[in-house]
Amino acid sequence: MARLVIRDSPSRPLSDYNVLDFENLPSGYRGLIVEPGYIPKDLNEVDLSTPLTRYRPGETEPKIKLKIPIMSAAMQSVSGYRMGIALARMGGIAVIYQSQTIENQARQVKNVKRQKGAFIEPEVMAPHVTLSKLVENMKETGFTKYFVTENGNQHGVLLGVITDSDFDEKIHESLTVRDRMRPKESLEFVYDDEIGYDVQKANRRVLESHHSAMPVIYRDDRLRDVVFRKAIRAHRQYENELTDEGKKLMVAAAVNTRDYTERVPALVEAGVDVLVIDTSQGHTDFVYDTAKYIRTNFSKIPLIGGNVVTKDGFKFLVEKCEVDAVKGGMGIGSICITPDQIGIAKGQDKAIEDVASARDEHLARTGWYYPFIADGGVHSVRDMNVGLSLGADVLMLGKFLAGVDESPQAIEYKHSPPRKPYWGEGSARARQWRENRGYNESFDEGVTITVSYVGPLEPYLGTALKQLRDGIRKAGSRNIQGHHKNSVITTISEEDAKPASG
Ligand code: IMP
Repeated sequence: MARLVIRDSPSRPLSDYNVLDFENLPSGYRGLIVEPGYIPKDLNEVDLSTPLTRYRPGETEPKIKLKIPIMSAAMQSVSGYRMGIALARMGGIAVIYQSQTIENQARQVKNVKRQKGAFIEPEVMAPHVTLSKLVENMKETGFTKYFVTENGNQHGVLLGVITDSDFDEKIHESLTVRDRMRPKESLEFVYDDEIGYDVQKANRRVLESHHSAMPVIYRDDRLRDVVFRKAIRAHRQYENELTDEGKKLMVAAAVNTRDYTERVPALVEAGVDVLVIDTSQGHTDFVYDTAKYIRTNFSKIPLIGGNVVTKDGFKFLVEKCEVDAVKGGMGIGSICITPDQIGIAKGQDKAIEDVASARDEHLARTGWYYPFIADGGVHSVRDMNVGLSLGADVLMLGKFLAGVDESPQAIEYKHSPPRKPYWGEGSARARQWRENRGYNESFDEGVTITVSYVGPLEPYLGTALKQLRDGIRKAGSRNIQGHHKNSVITTISEEDAKPASG
């Protein structure tokens, strides 16, 4: 484990939060930095891959290994399906938030799972559906192009395609999808046995076709999936995609300790790869009950428990709840006011030190390694480097990712330069959803802020990861596990420790 100095508690006065500009929020790692180490000649490229689920080093491989140590926070203002697609393409994973209806969350999971390289299972619609219903659906999902199948099933017989420019909402109000769709005969399509899943062949056909999308169908006319020109371009760009055995992008989803008997089956049905029990205090009987239900009914699905910040919390999740990985952080999220509201929190440096040492003791005793996901307070490359050096295997990011194009909320152009809103799951804005469902909560534990709009995820996070690789290299480590063991953490003055903007 890295050597470190423990600092004071993360508590901050409430008055700090009554400002619009939150660029200068303290990070969870204020005052810490990684010391330089020895760089041998052959240390060129740092490997950022990291386990997400338990394994026995030297004997078994983790079921899921991320290509980059990044997980996006299970928050309304961070992780919808667009974040899920973009982050998995870069080798990380998003946790689709649970403060939404089960149906919506399952749909978001499906939207990520529909991506198989450049081949995508599109939105489908039955021919008898009225155009007013279609419009409703378009508004709900944000999609504008639907493939029409005989029975409205994903792999039903293809009849045609309809987009928002094929009809007028008012003039064609009383008509159905069949009346306004472009029939299959007018489309360019390709048979499954002509291209398989060969992206080169697909690319050639799409380029020749003049169309932006080309359905792939079986010989009996059933729809397999669709190749989109845009998806081919995206696919070429990403060599690090995190995919399952069937080459589909991977995605995680959060569950709560209340409606799990309905939510979990729906998420599993939608194809979720990992479940995350999403609580601010995970050392509880409620988490135990939730985990027990998942273990009994869905024993194969990888499960992450949290949040815990103590050694006992780690043991509880691993030994009693049988999770595959542990997540922790309390009171240190950028939008968090928990320490001030209820007087409970823990400095993230001390939390990582405690949980990582419980993890290392468990490894020495049993031979099993349980990854630790450090959640919250990571707002800069420096925080990433410090968090990994302290012993984290994966970093969960909220604020750092909230300003990208792929987060769900709209850009606010009233600010110059533009910004995006970012709010806590315990803020009035997110709590509204829970209160509508009759869950009684009497006070806020989070706030709404705005963050800089930073454009698409790929160049933004890609640059940060390049810097992170260089930082880890200059500390003398080849990979994250080596960084845990070899690196040295030191303190710096508050002046030097000014948080980066973001
Ligand atoms: P950030 O990366 O510092 O913005 O922290 C994100 C993390 O803060 C999330 O992953 C959650 O663990 C935590 N969090 C999210 N919403 C709230 C809230 O309303 N109150 C306290 N913590 C929150």
